[in-house]
Amino acid sequence: MKLPLIYFDNSATTVPCKETVESINFSLKNNWGNPSSTHKKGVDALVSLASAKETVASSIGCKAEEIIFTSCGTEANNLAIIGAAQSKKRQGNRIISTTIEHPSVLKALEFLESEGFEIIKLSPDNNGFVSPEKFKEVVNNNTILVSVMLVNNETGSIQNIPEIAKIVKANSSAVLHCDAVQGYGKLPIKTSVLGVDLLSASGHKIHASKGIGFLYKSKKVNLVPIMHGGGQENGLRSGTESMPLIEGFVSAIKVMPDINKQLNITSELFKYAKEKLRNTNLVKFNSPENCLPYILNISVEGYKAEPLLNAFSMQDIFLSKGSACAKGQRSYVLKECGLDNDRIDSALRISFSRYNTKEEIDIFIDTLINITNRLRRFK
Ligand code: PLP
Repeated sequence: MKLPLIYFDNSATTVPCKETVESINFSLKNNWGNPSSTHKKGVDALVSLASAKETVASSIGCKAEEIIFTSCGTEANNLAIIGAAQSKKRQGNRIISTTIEHPSVLKALEFLESEGFEIIKLSPDNNGFVSPEKFKEVVNNNTILVSVMLVNNETGSIQNIPEIAKIVKANSSAVLHCDAVQGYGKLPIKTSVLGVDLLSASGHKIHASKGIGFLYKSKKVNLVPIMHGGGQENGLRSGTESMPLIEGFVSAIKVMPDINKQLNITSELFKYAKEKLRNTNLVKFNSPENCLPYILNISVEGYKAEPLLNAFSMQDIFLSKGSACAKGQRSYVLKECGLDNDRIDSALRISFSRYNTKEEIDIFIDTLINITNRLRRFK
């Protein structure tokens, strides 16, 4: 798909693919029944729901009954974290996570802290990596939940979830949750390989629409629901399932290119961008060497991010400072990675999708050179 603009903000959201748009339209027109209704219209919707769960489940190697549809990644994270903590509160009090999680995890943890849970947040090293060894020091038999993201949304750093899982399981009976919102569809994910009990993902990061996500919940784990009502999704997520958005999500999953092949293609694009950026002598790289190649965080030294972003936007080139959810605030993720304020204030996040090209990178870099030349005159 060729867009009439250069869109490098795919970690914030992606353009819906044509298959998603078509199936949402089709579903709104034809499959608008309520899956809980007993008549034919409802049964048709229920059949689509069951088939949607099969598709999602096979994309992460789990069972269909282990998938709960939610309205977004934020809701999946809240349900996982608050639901697991409430369910295990008689077995212990300690919850472990990291300081670089998405706000939908950090705020849920803050809420649990106000309810009396002990929250321990581990810091990353300068590469945004939280060593599994650090978990060894704090996981004990009072630990009921560990929540760690797979891919950081600002730097693309990847956590070693399988190793963390081994440590968690060897030292506690805690539930392991993984926020895989930025990794789903980009890295091969199998729940058994990761060793997680709960895993969150979101449709709008993989060319589906906003308003749909899912939580994988292992059959071995119990959650207390956070939404109360009609008891849909096995009582764990009340509210009539949004069949149009679910079907749109499924279509986006079905047309996802082979993950490893696309990872190689994106790595090439990433290397190309990095090399060209390095040659400008204008930037420092904030993403670590072995990050997810869909996210490249850079600092344009001596320039504040906002005027750069505005100037890019005027040329129909869209990227961001970092997390869309932390608009206007200095990045706590980059701070945690040890960067100074000047470097953080000049940070830009370039995030790719399968639709980006080398030609777009060439235009982006020429524009970066022009913008910095222009801004320099006003210094
Ligand atoms: N977790 C991470 C790592 C994210 O990057 C995001 C969104 O940017 C979310 C959770 C929240 O997902 P959603 O926008 O679907 O609520």
